[in-house]
Amino acid sequence: MKYDILIKNGKIIDGTGKPGFFADVAIKGKTIAKVGQNIENQEASCVIDASGLVVSPGFIDVHCHTDWSILDGPWDDHQEMQGITTQVAGLCGTSPLSPEEHFRDVLQETGLRTNYALMVGHGTVRKSVMGDAERAPLPDELRKMKYLTEKALDEGALGLSTGLIYVPGTYSTTEELKELASVLRRYDGVYATHMRSESDAILKAVDEAIEVACHADVRLQISHIKVILPRNWGLGPEVIKRLEAAMKNIPVAADQYPYTVTGGGLYGPSRLVKGWPVQEQQSAEDKESRALAQFQRDFRYAEKREELVSHVRSLLEDRGGPKQFIIVKAKTQRIVGMRLDEASRALDIPAEILCLEEIAASEGQFAMVYEGVYEPEMIEFMKKPWVMVGTDGVPGAFHPRTHGTFPRLLGRYVREKNVLPLEEAIRKMTSLPAETFGFPGRGRIAEGFYADLVVFDPDTIIDRADFVQPHVYPEGIKWVFVNGTAVVREGRPVEVYPGVPLRRES
Ligand SMILES: [Zn+2]
Repeated sequence: MKYDILIKNGKIIDGTGKPGFFADVAIKGKTIAKVGQNIENQEASCVIDASGLVVSPGFIDVHCHTDWSILDGPWDDHQEMQGITTQVAGLCGTSPLSPEEHFRDVLQETGLRTNYALMVGHGTVRKSVMGDAERAPLPDELRKMKYLTEKALDEGALGLSTGLIYVPGTYSTTEELKELASVLRRYDGVYATHMRSESDAILKAVDEAIEVACHADVRLQISHIKVILPRNWGLGPEVIKRLEAAMKNIPVAADQYPYTVTGGGLYGPSRLVKGWPVQEQQSAEDKESRALAQFQRDFRYAEKREELVSHVRSLLEDRGGPKQFIIVKAKTQRIVGMRLDEASRALDIPAEILCLEEIAASEGQFAMVYEGVYEPEMIEFMKKPWVMVGTDGVPGAFHPRTHGTFPRLLGRYVREKNVLPLEEAIRKMTSLPAETFGFPGRGRIAEGFYADLVVFDPDTIIDRADFVQPHVYPEGIKWVFVNGTAVVREGRPVEVYPGVPLRRES
């Protein structure tokens, strides 16, 4: 047989942004052997009819946290089930210190269902040299950090990531970041930054990101671009203006997940009520139950109760009021999925009392998510030709973006809201990230390119995961190929491991 697989009658959206066209795609081994009209069925051992479907390059997730849990296994199918064929992990300052060792372990222990690339995390490098020290590095510490960064780049890391709101990234100085980012120049590496602020100090943070990348003369990638908190909404255009002005000096890009709720965590009892252990620290169960007992006492005691009420009220107000919160877990089933203001009207009690009563009635089983991003502003970022797509996915976490990001963008924002032409959205998911992060031979449908492909239904593609049920697969993804092998067949995952580590080729 001339070809292994022939995908017939689909509409090809090739990743370059040019208008879709009808053609057949033939795969031989790991690559696309032919794109053309009327390739004969008998030339291939397997024929797939893609009538009514779109055939596009596989999606490239430029921002995820798969490295945190990939070695824990078993493999979670959420990437390929949304059309992702290549993922970039090691973002927000946290990564394996040695890509070489990590890739080796992954290939030995779990295998790869998608292609997999890494950034090296500034936080990881800093921690290994200076622990959690709250100060600038000494000269020899900085030298050591540069050495480790360079070593990771030699082992194939695509660039340096920072997480400047996290420990220890938050202790870094701008000078330190400039020095470290300078290491990237020789590798054409990407400086990807979770900025020091996405909220009140966002403009200062944008300026710092630009200063670092310009000094180092390297590519700047703003991670999960957004403006958080209602009082900052409206700063988006200024963020865009500053980044576009910097494009005169350096390549600038960003990535985004299409959700108005950020990853900041659930507003559960420990987050809502002062003095409770912070949820993120995953406190021991008995600590939680002692805190709950204290809460129950306080809530029954009039003076303490007033304190609790006014604390929760001001917390809600500071974030734009009850309408910004969505209830995802509650004892009163009918309010699950409602906005807090809506639930408050439905039950006819003030929002802050509702939260506290739910905590009291449900043994702590109450949680909300907070909508900190303004959708029209999110759409302004989405329209920019330099904004790619990144799930910011954390397997097993509460946020539906891990399962739904790419289909949500194509269903909700391309088909339903007409924010972008389909061809442009696909370009931002494929050739743009391939060129920016350095994946030669990927991100386009063309002869000789790797057969990383998605076949999807443009009329039905949509995310199905939400905050109440975050781990639901999307709809409309029919076939996904990684290096010529189907990892999704007729909408179902296939247990094969055709992915490879993608290293920066220096
Ligand atoms: Zn981040």
